[in-house]
Amino acid sequence: MIDIRGLTKRFGETTVIDGVDLRIAHGERVVVIGPSGTGKSTLLRCLNFLDRPQAGQISIGDLTLDAARASRAQILALRRRTAFVFQNYALFANRTAKENIMEALVTVQKQPRAEAEARALAVLAETGLSDKADSYPAALSGGQQQRVGIGRAMALHADLMLFDEPTSALDPEWVGEVLDLMRRVAARRQTMLIVTHEMQFAREIADRILFMHSGRIVESGPPEQIFGAPKDERLQRFLSRVG
Ligand code: ATP
Ligand code: MG
Repeated sequence: MIDIRGLTKRFGETTVIDGVDLRIAHGERVVVIGPSGTGKSTLLRCLNFLDRPQAGQISIGDLTLDAARASRAQILALRRRTAFVFQNYALFANRTAKENIMEALVTVQKQPRAEAEARALAVLAETGLSDKADSYPAALSGGQQQRVGIGRAMALHADLMLFDEPTSALDPEWVGEVLDLMRRVAARRQTMLIVTHEMQFAREIADRILFMHSGRIVESGPPEQIFGAPKDERLQRFLSRVG
């Protein structure tokens, strides 16, 4: 169980995350939608302290931390329980696909190299990239790079996987293979929090959809309700724009 209470993030005078409360059950797939600049990325980034929230509480399993006074050790513990997939892949350009996946296993999880390597190779097989283990990112297509990015997150065996628009930087031809891999991750009952503009995919994969506006979750529900009978006028307007 993941339990977020009163999460608040300000940049200067601007409140970007405005006291968000959110509970996510084990194995739940939650999709976040909403207009640009509304705080979706910041919400995800706050959940592993890539952005440090000023207030609120985050619990993942038996780890609870108070944002205002989280210690370095607690932040590292939180990061060990979360895995982030970035829009721009964020791979190390000077490391191979396999080394990119091994990196956090060795440095954050302190696994012995041989163990980390075995896990990286297993993940590469699952993502259909065994033949690319020794390739550098520049030699991979966008879709392959993002599959490495997802593989890197899968290898962490995190309690919560965070995806921030994982397909929006991709050429259209590569979107399908990345969504397919996310479907496979979802099929394992991995807990996922996904920001996406792929509404068809959201409808298909989500147990629950959150609509964010101005730093708040203003409506949430199962896809049929959000897409079929949206209540909030801002959500109705958003959906009419994104089709
Ligand atoms: P998009 O759909 O365009 O990705 P978003 O919903 O992910 O938008 P965020 O990136 O979370 O939105 O940004 C929310 C607000 O916070 C925006 O107004 C943005 O300008 C501001 N913001 C984000 N990061 C910073 C930062 N590091 N410093 C100052 N302001 C920031
Ligand atoms: Mg964003």
